[in-house]
Amino acid sequence: MFPGEISRLKGKGLLRKLLVVEPGEGSCLVIDGKKVVNLSSNNYLGLSNHPRVKEASIRAIERYGTGAGASRLISGHTNTIKELEERIASFKSTEAALVFGSGYLANIGIIPSIAGDGDVIIADRLNHASIFEGCRISRARLLIYKHKDMNQLEEILHTYSSCKRRLIITDGLFSMDGDIAPLKDIVSIAKRFGALVMVDDAHATGVLGKSGRGTMDHLGIKDGVDIQMGTLSKAIGCYGGYVAGDKSLVDYLINKARSFMFTTALSPAIAAASIAAFDIIEEMPEIRKRLWENRGYYFKAVTGLGLDTGMSESQIIPIMIGDDKRGLRFSERLLELGVYAPVIRPPTVPKGKTRIRTTMMATHTKEELDRGINALRVAGRELGIIS
Ligand code: PMP
Repeated sequence: MFPGEISRLKGKGLLRKLLVVEPGEGSCLVIDGKKVVNLSSNNYLGLSNHPRVKEASIRAIERYGTGAGASRLISGHTNTIKELEERIASFKSTEAALVFGSGYLANIGIIPSIAGDGDVIIADRLNHASIFEGCRISRARLLIYKHKDMNQLEEILHTYSSCKRRLIITDGLFSMDGDIAPLKDIVSIAKRFGALVMVDDAHATGVLGKSGRGTMDHLGIKDGVDIQMGTLSKAIGCYGGYVAGDKSLVDYLINKARSFMFTTALSPAIAAASIAAFDIIEEMPEIRKRLWENRGYYFKAVTGLGLDTGMSESQIIPIMIGDDKRGLRFSERLLELGVYAPVIRPPTVPKGKTRIRTTMMATHTKEELDRGINALRVAGRELGIIS
């Protein structure tokens, strides 16, 4: 039906394809029957395979079955969902929390509930696509500031100071660049201008901060963030999204967020698995420590090779390439060399910023990381990216 479109994307090196992947041993995958090191996962702490997480999920399936059956406003919810929300609220130090079917659904539900016609949303240029989708649906005026440019943020707030509501939205840890938002500055600017702050902590939760609570924990911020959004799909190792904030925010979203109201509730098994994952994060800080040790080892080696890791300061370590076709070839070559790391092209990243997105896991062994580093060395040299 769309052969023209497909060949146009292919010609530009922008055609995306799906891969069938099976789990291998350790942090490896099996692709086309071949074992490869996985440098692509957001399962940063390896909790999706943790025996306690799997066991909690199995027990919940035995008790509740697999699906929730309907929207929570139609069929209610199990105790596991209630417990998970209490757990998220305490983890994020807020009064309340509300879970959504996914992080994407959370963003497209929260944002239009809070900002609408006549309001202004001010967003970092490198925020996640689901945030921009939420902004688009909201019908609020969207103003984008250059990545982490606090002067521009202030200028915009100044210009729009008479608007009814101003909502600033930022990723906590940027998903494709691995750098951290200047949230302290954002909070203090917002305070001065009476704006609301929303942070998407999808990649920071479980990873950043002394207790793994995310960007606020990392930067020592106690309050001033009105809406803390996150996902259960990354370090938590499960699926689903959430918002944490004050009780009136949660009560309001239950009544207003369409992607909460008109979709089936999260499966109880996923909720039970997520609770177990939060338990592990709190009880076993050594897992997070291992992730950071792996990050340190790999980052040093990769930068030592002369590869450009962009702005990375976390477990997300992009290898900046630039050209789309070259990026695609790099990723294909890595796969031939036994390493899976995806090429990330526009529109996920800005034009000319194509990269290989590599991510660290706490469960990577040194040998797996060495295989990754070696493959980057070989592919980098062959493609003339490093000498
Ligand atoms: N926010 C950010 C910053 C993300 O990176 C993602 C997913 N990649 C989402 C939201 C959406 O979360 P989910 O995968 O749970 O839909």
